[in-house]
Amino acid sequence: MNYKSTRSGIEATASEAILKGLADDGGLYVPASLPKLDCSIEELQNMSYQQVAYEVMKLFLTDFTEQELKDCIANAYDSKFDTQEIAPVKKENGVYFLELFHGSTIAFKDMALSILPYLLTTSAKKNHVENDIVILTATSGDTGKAALAGFADVPGTKIIVFYPKDGVSPIQQKQMVTQQGDNVTVIGVDGNFDDCQTGVKKMFNDQALAECLRAEGYQFSSANSINIGRLTPQVVYYVYAYAQLVKRGAVQNGDPINVVVPTGNFGNILAAYYAKHAGIPIQTLVCASNENKVLFDFFETGVYDRNREFFLTSSPSMDILISSNLERLIYMLAGDDAAVNTELMRQLSEQGRYEITPQMRQRLQDFYGGYASEEETAEAIKEYYETAGYVIDPHTAVAASVYKKFADSQTDDKPALIVSTASPYKFTRSVMNAIDNRYDSKSDFELVDELCALSGVSVPRAIEEIRSAPVIHKNVCAVDEMENAVRKFLNLSV
Ligand SMILES: *Cc1c(COP(=O)(O)O)cnc(C)c1O
Repeated sequence: MNYKSTRSGIEATASEAILKGLADDGGLYVPASLPKLDCSIEELQNMSYQQVAYEVMKLFLTDFTEQELKDCIANAYDSKFDTQEIAPVKKENGVYFLELFHGSTIAFKDMALSILPYLLTTSAKKNHVENDIVILTATSGDTGKAALAGFADVPGTKIIVFYPKDGVSPIQQKQMVTQQGDNVTVIGVDGNFDDCQTGVKKMFNDQALAECLRAEGYQFSSANSINIGRLTPQVVYYVYAYAQLVKRGAVQNGDPINVVVPTGNFGNILAAYYAKHAGIPIQTLVCASNENKVLFDFFETGVYDRNREFFLTSSPSMDILISSNLERLIYMLAGDDAAVNTELMRQLSEQGRYEITPQMRQRLQDFYGGYASEEETAEAIKEYYETAGYVIDPHTAVAASVYKKFADSQTDDKPALIVSTASPYKFTRSVMNAIDNRYDSKSDFELVDELCALSGVSVPRAIEEIRSAPVIHKNVCAVDEMENAVRKFLNLSV
């Protein structure tokens, strides 16, 4: 199976698509046809997470050998995760939570970023790329740490992360500047996230810099969420979760479930859609947004419009006005018509808005869009704590709140799988404030201990580690010094 671009249909193998990230025409790579599982739920329900991962990913990464893929999987889903199940399913208050926060940075990005480095280096080998891969990333907090943890000490790679020096939370900053590994560097930038991102983009497009890199045996690559090397590992946990639900008798094999996904860039929920196409009986894909409800409005009206106020919420990883992975769905709604998709994406970049046709809207019936206000999000945290003793993070709470609206709006009583994307320990302050406002005056680490006492869930290694870890990365630079910082780290001749 090959991949084609959503903008022109140019083709690539899976390993080429992973190496490139974005197609040369600016489009996203999509499978030429979506694959179907070739083993049964009966077989899948007795497999480990790693075995399920192989059964799913082999369908998407067809130019990887069995050994290559199994090695990538074994390197990724190991003791970095604090449970052998990797993605456990918990039942609370009659709904199921798929916990995707048991990896090294206690959030769902670990599910993909722990395997991407191995997929990338394997792809490089397969395509006779001799250079080391240099990952260059700008982060507003979460992705940076997950990428650092994924790439640290992976042979054949280096990673450079830029973050806005005053634009990430104290815990996020501490997580990044304490990152160990001989191949990593983390640099604070005297500017905001946009400045960091613009600086990184400039370097990606700089031919002279690319030449210098090549001379020293390096080439840039990006770890961002449109890479199919991030998308395909996310299909795995939907297959795994359904098989586990069947195994414990929560659902009869073949009977449908609904999934509820807290959504930002549309990557996670698109993976659920791919799982549905692969044969997992998912009835409705509930797309949950926070107050940045551009996707909710899109599902309601067929108009995608980013011209609106931007809100900073307690679920920052969903504070997004352009959901880049939505382009893959738009392309499918258009009947795999690259010209139609390209025109809509042109309108998005020039006018900030586009409208899909009524026929395209009809193909959206698998989706339900909802959103939760900040108040509703906090209420959901409090409610789950008080009624089930289960503490959820604000992103998961957005999903739980939207699920309630969805369930109230229909007679649908299918089992629901709510995707839980972060540990409450990652957003301790918002979580504790939602439960009780008397915690306001406490420090972040005091709150960690309070949360532990209250939830009975032990403090994750990721949090314990940063309490005492030494700061390794103290570099700060101005926006126009970013390229120099890269040259220095890689020892490039100027
Ligand atoms: C990235 C992220 C999301 C959003 O996922 P998308 O794939 O971008 O839709 C939700 N919750 C958390 C905690 C995240 O880190």
